[in-house]
Amino acid sequence: MAYKDFYHLMLEYFSHPVELYTGSRNVPFTLYTEEQKLFVRNGKDNISRIDPKEVAAFVERFEEAESLLAKDYQDVTFKASYLLAAMKYITDRNASVVRFHSEELDNSEVQYKNWLNANPEGYVLNLRKRSEISSEMDPSNSTFLHSAGCSSVNNERSYTHSEPFTGNEYFKICSANFYALEQEAMRITKLSIVKRHSCLKSHIR
Ligand SMILES: [Zn+2]
Repeated sequence: MAYKDFYHLMLEYFSHPVELYTGSRNVPFTLYTEEQKLFVRNGKDNISRIDPKEVAAFVERFEEAESLLAKDYQDVTFKASYLLAAMKYITDRNASVVRFHSEELDNSEVQYKNWLNANPEGYVLNLRKRSEISSEMDPSNSTFLHSAGCSSVNNERSYTHSEPFTGNEYFKICSANFYALEQEAMRITKLSIVKRHSCLKSHIR
């Protein structure tokens, strides 16, 4: 992860409120953004702003010491336990979400099929390549979450293109974790609700 941009990463990742737990004492708290500012609400409902300067100081210290203990940051920020949890959250999410896009990956189609075989219980986000680039396009009717077993994301006989899943107009983002994938979908498309295909209706909640 590029820790230099950690503050901006947090603004993106916590554009919808996310509940996290501190690593040391397992205390719940919520991170969220409002008007491009980052806030933390603790378990007692106290709200405070996390300042870009203290995040920069935290990052500098982290790069020096790589400590995962909040006490090692006490002289630069008292919010280290929140920032460490946020860092872990972003790192885990990055690790668990995989992209299959023909312009980013050699053999994206083969790798996508390998992923499907390895993760039959996983989830697939199908979206247009253009939805990441063009802000003029409304992605709400072309972006869908699927289960990995759904024939519309795994049966190539339904398509005429030789690489229908990742090589044509659409690409796929996959995860074994539905929540992580849904969050990633909202982040990329800026939609507040990402539609679920009928294959998921009986599957989740
Ligand atoms: Zn489906």
